[in-house]
Amino acid sequence: MSNVHELGFLKEKIQELKDEGVYRKLPVMGSASDAEVELNGRKVINLSSNNYLGFANNPRMKKAAIEAVEKYGVGSGAVRTIIGNMDIHEKLEETLAKFKREEAAFIYQSGFNCNAGTIQAITEAGDIIISDELNHASIIDGARLSKASKTIYKHSDMESLEAVLKENKDKYRNMLIITDGVFSMDGDIAKLPEIVELAEKYGAMTYVDDAHGSGVLGESGRGTVDHFGLHGRIDFTIGTLSKAIGVIGGYVAGSRTMYEWLSHRARPVLFSTSLPPAAVGAITEAINMLMESTEYTDRLWDNAAYFKEKMGSLGFDTGHSETPITPVIIGDEAKTMEFSKRLLEKGVFVSGIVFPTVPKGTGRLRCMVTAAHSRVQLDKAVEAFKQVGEEMGIL
Ligand code: PMP
Repeated sequence: MSNVHELGFLKEKIQELKDEGVYRKLPVMGSASDAEVELNGRKVINLSSNNYLGFANNPRMKKAAIEAVEKYGVGSGAVRTIIGNMDIHEKLEETLAKFKREEAAFIYQSGFNCNAGTIQAITEAGDIIISDELNHASIIDGARLSKASKTIYKHSDMESLEAVLKENKDKYRNMLIITDGVFSMDGDIAKLPEIVELAEKYGAMTYVDDAHGSGVLGESGRGTVDHFGLHGRIDFTIGTLSKAIGVIGGYVAGSRTMYEWLSHRARPVLFSTSLPPAAVGAITEAINMLMESTEYTDRLWDNAAYFKEKMGSLGFDTGHSETPITPVIIGDEAKTMEFSKRLLEKGVFVSGIVFPTVPKGTGRLRCMVTAAHSRVQLDKAVEAFKQVGEEMGIL
């Protein structure tokens, strides 16, 4: 007889998911993440990954990863504050700081725990976190871990932000404004110049999560802050190493003081093992590639413009994206999922995104065009969209 709990309370919840029609099996990839992948045993065009620059399967980066493994092994063996801090970790931080044109950069094992660890470490009771209502889940979780007060402002609404700043400016020691640099569901860019002006007017600090802007916007992917020429006016800039950079990890770029404090108090760095050598080697190579040439970001933007133009001229609603993220708005939730299913039957994978991830009635197929896609692959994808759009009476 087993004493293991039957987990009936979870079984009930799983049954609810099934009853609501939202229970799902994870799709299984049998190949590297690339423009074309093997998915559930079939070759399909991949329009859903965050691999913006096609770096996830880049030969130069793979070689750098293998070289790092040969010299440093497969794991770092400890948290950084004990004996998991290798020279390649520090070299990567120096390279990132140079790339981001900031004094320092501090790395984490993921973008998620970068937000979870940084927000908590830089705020405390008596401070207030002021967050855009559409910020990413990891920012929300990071704010929850902090003892600071929290409030939100309406998405990219500067009047709403100013009202919150005005109301709270004399009540707290520090105010921290947090925004995504690029909002991942619509591809719109935060109004950083206005946010910075308001922050300076009311004496608030600024924190930009540039998960979808780093490697994409600015000179050779230096990010949203570089895109707007705001170096030196944003206190904390987060980037992920898992999306455009194609590997895993996250970092926060900013001042030397920020670095010193985080290296003493960021909990994911104190209590979780550091990035493995293969990842560090590949990431460092990727940043060097971006500093050598703009060819990767140029190709990304060319492909995105090509795809958006074709989809728009077919009559699809591609929203108000300002970045390569291309939402194709279908509206109805069931229709969105049906559209995605039919695209897959035609060899194109685009996951449907519906409520609660996006508001009700704004279901969409979120297309992520990358630098790795060929024009032939993009044309095939557009043709599949056209056929399904016609079959379903959407075009
Ligand atoms: N911030 C934002 C805005 C994101 O979109 C994501 C990834 N979904 C993250 C943070 C987390 O990054 P990672 O996948 O590297 O943990």
